[in-house]
Amino acid sequence: MSDYRRVLLEVKNLKKYFPLRHGFLGRGAGTVRAVDGVNLHILQGETLGLVGESGSGKTTAGRTILRAFNPTEGEIIFHLQDGPATDIAKLGSTELRAFRRHAQMIFQDPYSSLNPRMTVRDIIAEPLVAGGVAQGDEVDDRVREIARRCQLSLEHLRRYPHAFSGGQRQRIGIARALVVQPQFVVCDEPVSALDVSIQAQILNLLMDMQKEFGLTYLFVAHDLSVVEHVSDRVAVMYLGRLVEVAPTADLFYQPLHPYTEALMSAIPALDPDEVMKPVILEGEIPSPANPPSGCPFHPRCPYAQDVCKQDMPPLKEYKPGRFAACHFADQLSLKGALKS
Ligand code: SF4
Repeated sequence: MSDYRRVLLEVKNLKKYFPLRHGFLGRGAGTVRAVDGVNLHILQGETLGLVGESGSGKTTAGRTILRAFNPTEGEIIFHLQDGPATDIAKLGSTELRAFRRHAQMIFQDPYSSLNPRMTVRDIIAEPLVAGGVAQGDEVDDRVREIARRCQLSLEHLRRYPHAFSGGQRQRIGIARALVVQPQFVVCDEPVSALDVSIQAQILNLLMDMQKEFGLTYLFVAHDLSVVEHVSDRVAVMYLGRLVEVAPTADLFYQPLHPYTEALMSAIPALDPDEVMKPVILEGEIPSPANPPSGCPFHPRCPYAQDVCKQDMPPLKEYKPGRFAACHFADQLSLKGALKS
């Protein structure tokens, strides 16, 4: 189905490499290719889920897209409402600071991301003041308004972060990210540190805020059932590369990449009548400092053939809106977590 919403973010050939050092003198010992040539786009008002095992590069990709890490290569182009296209990979530090009001991040661990010596009021106000977005009474007006929408009371604003539960601290993190009225937010595993009973409240808050403010999310997570709940489309990452991108329902009914099938087989059944037989992957995810030849998934793939050891499959569109990086994506009949 065509989607006529406009593109808010385009990421082209994004790479983030980290040098490996060892020994007393810190001599170079190779390169970790944490993100290795990622291309994606996100439509305005959309949630794109970004999933993969730990070590897949999803968190580094999310952070590099917001320039928490400087990219090694590539373009990060924002098409903001009422503004020119801006490749933030090229911005200097002053321009980047000014740009941050448009693109914010919600962190996995709200406690370590909140300064324990600041009151909640000051924590939420900080991006407004530091970014020069508001001054004087307007700062307090905006802090009170976003706190109210995140179900934090005036009394809460006078307290310090240690006085709050995990769920309340995540509400503070969300209020701090949204107080500058950004257009784009990277949600970096925003519920994985929370009790299951609190997760739904925070996900509902994020979805309510998205509707209310027309936000666009990149939702980074390892939990596929959470991603299925919140995402319009899902991108699956393995060893620094995207291996599948698809609308959420298509991906969960019938994935095109064997890695996606394996991830899905590990989720507790979404449909109680249909429990998937687990796809057991051989071994651990390989080191991004020394990725396998050909298809990086071939040492663990139950469908691998000789060609997979030599030729890297490109991410190709096999059906409208459905991309996969597998030589046999149009021949395999893989199982999803949902049944039609
Ligand atoms: Fe498996 Fe080969 Fe497809 Fe890679 S290209 S996912 S090894 S079948």
